[in-house]
Amino acid sequence: MDKLKKGTTSVWAGEMQEFYKGATTPPIVNSVTYGYHDLDEWSEVALGLKEGHIYSRNTNPTVEVFEEKVRALEYAEAATAFSTGMAAISNTLFALLAPGERVVSIKDTYGGTSRLFLEFLPSIKVEVTLCEAGHHEQMEAEISKGCKLVYLETPTNPTLKVLDLKRLIKAAKSVSAIVVVDNTFATPINQNPIVLGADIVLHSATKFLSGHSDVMGGVACGNKELIKKIFQYREITGAALHPMSAYMIARGMKTLELRILRQNENAMAVAKFLKTHPKVEDVFYPGLPTHKGHDFAKTQMSGFGGMMSFSLKGGYENVKKCLPRLKLAHLAASLGSVSSLAGPPRTTSHVELTEKQRAELGIPESLIRYSAGIENIEDLIEDISQALDYK
Ligand SMILES: *Cc1c(COP(=O)(O)O)cnc(C)c1O
Repeated sequence: MDKLKKGTTSVWAGEMQEFYKGATTPPIVNSVTYGYHDLDEWSEVALGLKEGHIYSRNTNPTVEVFEEKVRALEYAEAATAFSTGMAAISNTLFALLAPGERVVSIKDTYGGTSRLFLEFLPSIKVEVTLCEAGHHEQMEAEISKGCKLVYLETPTNPTLKVLDLKRLIKAAKSVSAIVVVDNTFATPINQNPIVLGADIVLHSATKFLSGHSDVMGGVACGNKELIKKIFQYREITGAALHPMSAYMIARGMKTLELRILRQNENAMAVAKFLKTHPKVEDVFYPGLPTHKGHDFAKTQMSGFGGMMSFSLKGGYENVKKCLPRLKLAHLAASLGSVSSLAGPPRTTSHVELTEKQRAELGIPESLIRYSAGIENIEDLIEDISQALDYK
């Protein structure tokens, strides 16, 4: 499976075995529990000596289909699914960290992750050092002081800063730290951190993986040993993915490559269009040669993703005038759907932070985050163009 190309893997991974009565799509196994006539077999499965299922909080056949797709697409040894992206992130951090240990990360992680770093991990005496994203020397210096875990996210939310993964992974390895990467924005189609040496890759499956904004989920993948630890923690916290959700995500993932290639193109075209627009102050997209991280984005990403953001001249007042004029974008939180979506970070990704914290992260008040869908690009540009015609 790992030798197939990603477009093939998205469709076939987890679905090559024979399903119930020859079904050609994975059955949604809603059963909570699994019966055994042979008590010896039951006991072997329960002890993990033999493959099989016991109870759906732990493992479930439909959830396994989704896990296998992500595992194969990220070139990981194992994967374990969660009810949401935040469940994947929090369970991973709490499973791998103990009081007295130290984490190095960046200030601009996803809003919910940032809350874990600023509030919940310090409350169990885990020391957290958050660096400026893009200041690689500062990060290397902090990592070299010693830490248990380095947590990275690239491109970042919402200003699409790019971290040099190879460089930071090298620094982490020199102090034997575990490297965790949130790959939600890039998707496994555009970026594979495990190939670059990362230990764990996390996704909010709510976004690009499922791709239709109609289901929530999360996943952690990596080497067998670490994923087993995270899986055993999840068994007890109970943040399991529902089989119906797993089915919907796996179904969405069959078109992952098609969607992402299109979204890459659409975001690039929108970024280029906005770059020359007189009402636009700044455009943030790693695919633009003028972007600060473009050079290493080019080496670690095969496409620059469907997310971009831009700021308007004249402040938040103009965001309020411009956004409601968009007809082909939902004004809502979240991202990564087939339909385009736009919003200011202060009501979406960074709503958990105070205005002061947002300012410290360099998020302009006039910023608009735009998640390009799979629509026709001429229609999208025409729509954005007329939305910018506000008085
Ligand atoms: C949305 C998101 C999350 C959280 O995922 P949920 O499924 O909403 O819990 C984590 N990281 C990134 C980068 C995200 O965009």
